[in-house]
Amino acid sequence: MLESQELSRYSRNILLSGVGRAGQEKLKSARILVIGAGGLGSPVLAYLAAAGVGHLRILEHDTLELTNLQRQILYDTADIGHSKLDAAVDRLRKLNPNIEIEPWNCRFEVGNAREALQGMDLVLETTDSIPAKFLCNDASVLSGIPALIGGILRFHGTIIGTGTHKNGAGRPCYRCLFPAAPVAEAVPTCADAGVLGAMAGMVGSAMAAEALKIILGLGKALQGRVLQFEMMDSSFRCIDFAADPACPLCGENPTIHDLHAEEPLSEGADFLNRLPTNL
Ligand SMILES: [Zn+2]
Repeated sequence: MLESQELSRYSRNILLSGVGRAGQEKLKSARILVIGAGGLGSPVLAYLAAAGVGHLRILEHDTLELTNLQRQILYDTADIGHSKLDAAVDRLRKLNPNIEIEPWNCRFEVGNAREALQGMDLVLETTDSIPAKFLCNDASVLSGIPALIGGILRFHGTIIGTGTHKNGAGRPCYRCLFPAAPVAEAVPTCADAGVLGAMAGMVGSAMAAEALKIILGLGKALQGRVLQFEMMDSSFRCIDFAADPACPLCGENPTIHDLHAEEPLSEGADFLNRLPTNL
């Protein structure tokens, strides 16, 4: 049950049609895993905490660097050289002391992925690691937990929703779009190619809003859709994608039955730029 000060804290949520006290209680009961507390993870975590999501499990292992502050808005200059996880937890507990925060100071890896998803209603992948996106997808499908997988680079952003939150069947999935990972050199990172800091805020805030929609059961969830942001022409588009019967993970004759470290393809296709032409 919500306490009186929570009714006041969340009053603007509760006023919304389709939310009300019952919706706010759903948020309070929700358990969300956020992988990464960087550029996308900062707004994701801030908005989920502020909205009253009752349990946030956070995986992060990095130390804050000066170059992070251009977009990682959970942190300030005094945090440079310190643990991002500690600083994030401190900030989020100050923002909302009514929620539980469960910090995991580690990388998201084959050895801990299943355990990290255990007991969660939803997982949000916010790192700049392509192997982590595949691992998140595989773990979410094998665990029957829906996922939102986000990415930003230069002036672009993408969010892919996988799985179905209603039956937990895990289809369609990230591998229905990308059966396997590209070679690392084919995928530039923000450290190589740059990123407009505000893109992290825009895409991370959209991930948080989509997560709240899923927990509240409002509107059309992003599961089975790709939401793309292109700031150079101020455009957004959302494209449906279907489960691929030949998908190696969720298809009719799957070849992936357990978690594994992704073996990259040998070809050098530009991974991020492949997406718009494939849909
Ligand atoms: Zn699939």
